[in-house]
Amino acid sequence: MPLKLPVYLDYNATTPVDRRVLDAMMPYLTGEFGNAASRSHAYGWRAEAAVESAREQVAALIGASAREIVWTSGATESNNLALKGAAAMYRERGNHIVTCATEHRAVLDPCRRLAEEGFEVACLGVDRHGRVDPARVADAITDRTILLSIMAANNETGTLHPVAEIGRIAKRRGVLFHCDATQAVGRVGVDVEAMGIDLLSMSAHKIYGPKGAGCLYVRRRSPRVRLVCQMDGGGHERGLRSGTLNVPGIVGLGAAAEICRREMADEAPRLAALRDRLHRGIDAGLDSVALNGHPAERLANTLNLSFAYVEGEALMMKLKNVASSSGSACTSESREPSHVLKALGVGEDLINSSLRFSVGRNTTEEEVDFALEEILHGVRELRELSPLYELARQQAGTKADAHRIQ
Ligand code: PMP
Repeated sequence: MPLKLPVYLDYNATTPVDRRVLDAMMPYLTGEFGNAASRSHAYGWRAEAAVESAREQVAALIGASAREIVWTSGATESNNLALKGAAAMYRERGNHIVTCATEHRAVLDPCRRLAEEGFEVACLGVDRHGRVDPARVADAITDRTILLSIMAANNETGTLHPVAEIGRIAKRRGVLFHCDATQAVGRVGVDVEAMGIDLLSMSAHKIYGPKGAGCLYVRRRSPRVRLVCQMDGGGHERGLRSGTLNVPGIVGLGAAAEICRREMADEAPRLAALRDRLHRGIDAGLDSVALNGHPAERLANTLNLSFAYVEGEALMMKLKNVASSSGSACTSESREPSHVLKALGVGEDLINSSLRFSVGRNTTEEEVDFALEEILHGVRELRELSPLYELARQQAGTKADAHRIQ
């Protein structure tokens, strides 16, 4: 079969809906179109039953109980509800929030808003692989801290934070722990009990479900977490998030979660093999390429590379047949250099030379091999035009000669 072009290597931006997920959703777009809040007829009852079964499916994936799942429109909304809702609820207790420099804008921007409203936000740095040091998390907590917000896996680099350790610190210090697990759920094991997570955000469209559906896990026992709702209205979701439920989207999220739970263990090594095949091929064919992110503690599907002496945007233009991403797709409207790579200490030149490739469920070896050839070709062509690259090669050559003479 001919390859579908461009080859899609941007699964961290979004994923296609799995066929099995679509099949589960279809009835709820057509015949079973009831409002899950309609209590007076079978259309409503059946929609409600589907929503409750999806709640079980999602809860099972993260080790929660169904009653702890609050439906939202996606992780951006979940993060807003968690951060603003907890800040408003616990304001009397303290005004201090701890987060991290590599968080997604959907965490950093609500934190900025809270700072404008008088909260103090401590934004922790990371090491060169993008990991936050749990000791620094512990040090940052004061007796005014109410909330800690640290993501599970970074969307740009795939780096995994030591979440369980951070959860233990939060518990010990009596601070709520919110985790944006949008990129981690369904790809690596996430368990809210084992990891001591009190609030967790996730999104359907990153796990082969539809766009516009997500949820927030809100712990109900030890401690029982309370939030001030951010959307007033009909009192849906136990008053935490009003609005008619997106039944097909929720059913899709449930089905997507169920598939991940069953297939994750087999999928992760397959994706890692594809990603490493691409990485090895690039390393073998090009010099001056650097990996951004942790070499081992990283999502199996993510490869973020800096191609020195090459403009990332120019490379992307050359790679017409490869769909990848420079910086974060979610913030690419603001042409700012990636705040994530900056936090890792990557220089501005190399930030602007970086591309993220993320493989996924439908990626094949043929696609990876095709992309590899395109990348090698594109980088070589651009470097041929670069006087800086030429100069660097000459200098490296002189150095190599000097070594040989010695
Ligand atoms: N957090 C992270 C880590 C993400 O990767 C994304 C999506 N790019 C979001 C939050 C926002 O998710 P959504 O698109 O569901 O609002």
